[in-house]
Amino acid sequence: MLIVQKYGGTSVGSIDKIQAVANKVAACRAQGNQVVVVVSAMSGVTNNLTAMAFELQKEPSPREMDMLLSTGEQTTIALLSMALQSIGCPARSYTGGQVRILTDSAHTKARIQDIDEEKILNDLDQGEVVVVAGFQGVDEKGNITTLGRGGSDTTAVALAAALKADECQIYTDVDGVYTTDPRVVENARRLDRITFEEMLEMASLGAKVLQIRSVEFASKYNVPLRVLSSFEDGPGTLIGSEDESMMEMPLISGIAFTRDEAKLSVVGVPDVPGMAYKVFGPISDANIEVDVIVQNIGADNTNDITFTVQKKDADAASKLLESIANDMGARGIEVDDKVSKVSLVGVGMRSHAGIASRMFEALSQESINIQLITTSEIKISVIIEEKLLESAVRALHVAFELDQQSE
Ligand code: ASP
Ligand code: MG
Repeated sequence: MLIVQKYGGTSVGSIDKIQAVANKVAACRAQGNQVVVVVSAMSGVTNNLTAMAFELQKEPSPREMDMLLSTGEQTTIALLSMALQSIGCPARSYTGGQVRILTDSAHTKARIQDIDEEKILNDLDQGEVVVVAGFQGVDEKGNITTLGRGGSDTTAVALAAALKADECQIYTDVDGVYTTDPRVVENARRLDRITFEEMLEMASLGAKVLQIRSVEFASKYNVPLRVLSSFEDGPGTLIGSEDESMMEMPLISGIAFTRDEAKLSVVGVPDVPGMAYKVFGPISDANIEVDVIVQNIGADNTNDITFTVQKKDADAASKLLESIANDMGARGIEVDDKVSKVSLVGVGMRSHAGIASRMFEALSQESINIQLITTSEIKISVIIEEKLLESAVRALHVAFELDQQSE
């Protein structure tokens, strides 16, 4: 098999850990696999480099930031190759530019456009392990670029897609994707598998195991992704497309949540065309990301428009709203920054009725008031008072029997 393995910063955080990674890589090769390894910078390095830059300049140029930050990964590839060679495993390291991970020129947030897989395939055929620096690429003019924080995941998936690898394994400090955050629900369970779609919902809703972009990439090119622990053996969680595994999929895969939401409403909005645009035009121009949106027609020919944003944007959004509400003759605005969002995620929802009612029943038994509800095909989200978040997550975990292995 051709396997791409990616090791994150904590997995290569010291010389000892790099040696342990080398042993894992060599063992995988010894089983007859061709192995490409993508590594992050040693933990803390990217942050330290960033801090140094900001000591010199308030706004360092993105090009120089990329030049600087790419050195973190360059250190790790050389050390890992040495560690591999020292245990008799042939290995070669390459920067992103050297294997021509071609990106656009959007420094600090570049996108991969093309990869030249020939060189890597040649080395693999000669029995080498190929070690590639994550997070970095090169633009057409030869400038070093980086892919955004956490970008090594994306490098790994992109390489796996280009090389048509059998699997892309992401080694990290957790042993897989869980039904929910184990810090909130003690008996949260590792999932054996989850679909790309579900993972995207779980990740974007706060269960941050993988960079979201890498999951989108994997889904687009149908690269099977596996999240595993660097520190313990185990099968991890396989993230794949729905068709392969539909029969075995549980109804609900997990519960995601975000604490940092704020809810804003414009109340008494005249019921005429153009009002939603009047509200969300300026919000979007201010680069404020809107999450849930709900609009309701009231009895007196006015609407209430309610939406949520991240807590950090609540002040800016409410200032904007005040003048907007005035302009359009609305009755006023309301702001509540003590709300959270809880979401039930599962592809099984598509084909089963009654999931929503079961969810609302569980919340009602805990006397949890639901402020907003939104749904998509594979997700039901509710906005609730922030201090009830944990009890809501626990109640739902029990109601949907997520602590039990699905058969
Ligand atoms: N070293 C980069 C970061 O810390 C990229 C990565 O680790 O994926 O964000
Ligand atoms: Mg990382």
